[in-house]
Amino acid sequence: MGIPKQGRPKEEIFAALERFKAHDLDWKSGRVWAYVYNPGDEVREVVNRAYTMFLTENALDPTVFPSTLRLETEVVRMVADLLRGDENVVGHMTTGGTESNMLAVKTARDWARAHRPEVDRPEMVLPITAHPSFHKAAHFLGVKPVVVGINPETFQVEPEAMRAAITPNTILLVASAPNWPQGVVDPVPEIAAIAQEYGLLFHVDACVGGFYLSFLRQMGEPVPDFDFTVPGVTSISADVHKYGYAAKGASTVLYRNKELRRYQMFACAETPGYAVINPTILSTKSGGPMAGAWAILNYLGEEGFHRIVRTVHEATQRLIRGINEIPELRVLGEPVMCIFSFTSDQVNLFQLADAMARRGWYIQPQPSTPFTPRSLHVSVNYGNAHLVDTLLQDLREAVEEVKQAPPIDRERVQALVDWALQSPDPQAAFRQLRQTVGIEGTQLPQELALINEILDILPDHLADALLIDFFNDLYV
Ligand SMILES: *Cc1c(COP(=O)(O)O)cnc(C)c1O
Repeated sequence: MGIPKQGRPKEEIFAALERFKAHDLDWKSGRVWAYVYNPGDEVREVVNRAYTMFLTENALDPTVFPSTLRLETEVVRMVADLLRGDENVVGHMTTGGTESNMLAVKTARDWARAHRPEVDRPEMVLPITAHPSFHKAAHFLGVKPVVVGINPETFQVEPEAMRAAITPNTILLVASAPNWPQGVVDPVPEIAAIAQEYGLLFHVDACVGGFYLSFLRQMGEPVPDFDFTVPGVTSISADVHKYGYAAKGASTVLYRNKELRRYQMFACAETPGYAVINPTILSTKSGGPMAGAWAILNYLGEEGFHRIVRTVHEATQRLIRGINEIPELRVLGEPVMCIFSFTSDQVNLFQLADAMARRGWYIQPQPSTPFTPRSLHVSVNYGNAHLVDTLLQDLREAVEEVKQAPPIDRERVQALVDWALQSPDPQAAFRQLRQTVGIEGTQLPQELALINEILDILPDHLADALLIDFFNDLYV
């Protein structure tokens, strides 16, 4: 395919774009329990309009577009205030939680280069439940991730386990508020005390929880401490495009003070072209996500967010109760907000996810680890809160269906994987393995249970390789 020789009529273009969505899951009706955060049509329109108003403005250069400087600093101030930071707390808007977390690691690395030059192989200590973006940061930035297990009952990391993982090369501790897999908050004050004792930086990943938990606390609900009121917390990430309900491309990363934030920035006046000063990863960046974020914070206000959080919180409590009432299922740990996971000893959860997909729902499968059983992940938001009863009804049906269905033959799957692992030509064996489970070529797989089963059995580095090969084929 090339660029068409002659342009196409705009009606045709818009119709084609609409058609491209035909096979997407229907998020507007609320059937996707991940990825989409919908504040309702009316609020979304406000965000969309603000977003398109600033689509073309380039936040690369605040001297040319002071409007983007204003948008960004006002959003960051509002978030700093929400996270109970004082006037010294500063930060930036980024394109997402991944960028925010990567920047926090970059800042820690460069802070250590300046203040602890004896550290030549920097390490960061993170719970196994920390978001993959920290591993991505490690991979990109040359910082070694030192992964710590969690308490298999509460799914929180033990502060003493974090302490035990500290070495002379440690530059950063990481905790989640809450973690994505089970939605529980790590013991931030205890870890912060350890960070202070050792003179380490400490990042709290509140990407998914920063907004929700803070509003929940304002509403008088018990919320564990995780923000800037905890001495020893040196940076926090919070996504506006999750439970701040902004349009995608909007997150924040905040630092205790400017002294620290300085190490996030990059400047280059070395080339014959324009001097670059980039506080974040991108250079050219649209003002759209900033305007969308600014608009929703101002449009909803605390009151509007409290209304949304109340609805979502009630729906979540009802959903958790309803799932626990299904004899085959049980919710893991004590989730604090509106994300959680459930497991089963009786039904194959990967088959259950497929059975739900056939009913038009997306529920995210999670593999097992030495500390967590395999599970399905649910995130409730304003756009799906009204579907709790329908979801529960379908979940009950799907559990029965999976109980009747032929089970996945785990021994056969294990034998297949063992065969591939021991093959004299591992590359060919893995190609065949991918063919067998239907993740080869440019077709998207329909049934995912077998694929998830194999990914769960494979050693992590081989699962990573398999997934990379899959995408390497998928995107032609
Ligand atoms: C979603 C999430 C991230 C990553 O955010 P993206 O916006 O998807 O890049 C990081 N940490 C946690 C806890 C998250 O839930």
